[in-house]
Amino acid sequence: KELTDLNQLADECLRLSFHGLRAKDKSFNADFKAELDPDLPQIEVVSQDIGRVLLNLINNAFYACTEQIPNQIADSKNGSIAELKPLVKISTQKTKNEIIITVKDNGPGIPESLKDKIFQPFFTTKPAGKGTGLGLSLSYDIVKAHGGELKLESKVGSGTSFFIHLPILS
Ligand code: ADP
Ligand code: MG
Repeated sequence: KELTDLNQLADECLRLSFHGLRAKDKSFNADFKAELDPDLPQIEVVSQDIGRVLLNLINNAFYACTEQIPNQIADSKNGSIAELKPLVKISTQKTKNEIIITVKDNGPGIPESLKDKIFQPFFTTKPAGKGTGLGLSLSYDIVKAHGGELKLESKVGSGTSFFIHLPILS
């Protein structure tokens, strides 16, 4: 483990994921945003492992809002249906005992019936070649190994947030 600036790690992973996806597919188009707590303390983590968790969650988030069924909004002006611009937002915050990193997307959301299944190894809804179904199961284990928790909040039609909780040990 090494003392790690999680703001910097989160920001790097967000950019890496965005530019990687754009390099693979010129039509890839999404917004991203980082809201990083400037007072976040550095904590001891296995940076490479937490980086892997972040990349998994961010890649899933970009995929959800660009390639899963597009999120549609009723356009009140002309009564038609418009598509939401894909957006992935990362934020960091500090509570008394924890750092929480949130990865939020405005994709289609995760139905209640799948919320447990998605953490099982090899569970994927992606077409063959697009997903291994290992990302979330691995991420869950890595966060647990740090004494933390990986949680999620999702509503079909309004997107998904994953929360990485990491303890601040002093
Ligand atoms: P993979 O990305 O290879 O499918 P993961 O373990 O990363 O494997 O994710 C498992 C499944 O969880 C995905 O196939 C998808 O159905 C669902 N999922 C994960 N993240 C999101 C998200 N942000 N929005 C909607 N569905 C998601
Ligand atoms: Mg994945």
